[in-house]
Amino acid sequence: MIEKQHLIDRFISYVTVDTESDPESDTTPSSAKQWDLANALVEELKTIGLVDVTIDDNAYIMATLPSNVDHDVPTIGFVSHFDTTPDFTGKDVNPQVIENYDGKDIVLNEAENIVLSPDYFEDLLQYKGQTIITTDGTTLLGADDKAGIAEIISAMEYLVKHPELKHGKIRVGFTPDEEIGRGAHKFDVNKFGAEWAYTMDGSQIGELEYENFNAAGALVTIKGKIVHPGYAKGKMVNSMYIATDYINSLPRLETPEHTADREGFFHLYSIKGEVDSTQLQYIIRDHDRGHFEARKEMMVKLANELNSQFEKEVVSVEIKDQYFNMREKIEPVMHIVDLAEEAMKLAGITPLIKPIRGGTDGSQLSFMGLPCPNIFAGGHNFHGRFEYVPVESMLKAIEVIVNIAQLAAKK
Ligand SMILES: [Zn+2]
Repeated sequence: MIEKQHLIDRFISYVTVDTESDPESDTTPSSAKQWDLANALVEELKTIGLVDVTIDDNAYIMATLPSNVDHDVPTIGFVSHFDTTPDFTGKDVNPQVIENYDGKDIVLNEAENIVLSPDYFEDLLQYKGQTIITTDGTTLLGADDKAGIAEIISAMEYLVKHPELKHGKIRVGFTPDEEIGRGAHKFDVNKFGAEWAYTMDGSQIGELEYENFNAAGALVTIKGKIVHPGYAKGKMVNSMYIATDYINSLPRLETPEHTADREGFFHLYSIKGEVDSTQLQYIIRDHDRGHFEARKEMMVKLANELNSQFEKEVVSVEIKDQYFNMREKIEPVMHIVDLAEEAMKLAGITPLIKPIRGGTDGSQLSFMGLPCPNIFAGGHNFHGRFEYVPVESMLKAIEVIVNIAQLAAKK
């Protein structure tokens, strides 16, 4: 397979370029600095021998590894994103490479006493004896999703160098702005031209995902009436009390902190209130489409019930769908999940198939006509200073990509 040090060097060359996306910006990419890595990736894709390497005005990168067989093989794709989350800084990433991990605490930053400990992050113990790349405790690492990019490029490089391994046409797609929910927005599915694809954007080794939340956002606005408190009897309407009633009328145990697996929730994440007006912001999540619709209806019904106590409408609810569970788009083409499962087993990996409690670029792409399950990229503790990635997991991800390419070309 790919030489370990080569992969480490490649990965570090990506994470040391700051590509934090910016939710406040309307441009694509949302931050100009994402061009720095995007342009470098274009050059690298050309250097390793891919053809038809393109980057568009929004920094979406595509490239092709041509087929090396005569028979008809479906074109498949691999997708990842090069931005990092705005939740935590990705500037001046200073990766630490820990070889032959001994299963003990890893001191990320002595001066600030920041320690990555298996007492708290138990998953670390799975990687005893392996090479682990961590942060220096002051930034995120960016394995989400530069590990995915390093894996896809390394797998393509390997296939170019080994023409005896037979595969069909493979497309590669790298996107900006996934972390602010826009990675798929300007992805040209027609131009990509694959029958299906995989995002290499999951977490620990073995993860294989084709179910995610159905998602909506709700803005609840409560109108009150402000009157001088000394003369308010029978006149003042305090919107904050009505808001409290509204909040308490939703099921208290159907919240993120009380749910797991396939249980959905209402999540109140912001309250802004004065006597005159209060605004509540919620997200609604559920894997089941029927339950999801019922949650949205419940939010409207509770508003109507409160409104019936007043002469005119005081509570209004505005709901916007955000994304849907890709499962309905994947189930008709389940063979693409089976293929990934087989590719993992061939690499000696036990597939971990579980529903994502979130969304992925792949779910949006699936609804845009490109069915797109998600495969592990290998990292842990995304979006923060404790992020790390075992190099052996990245090597296995490369093997999975190479296996998928070959399995898809089997007659
Ligand atoms: Zn990601």
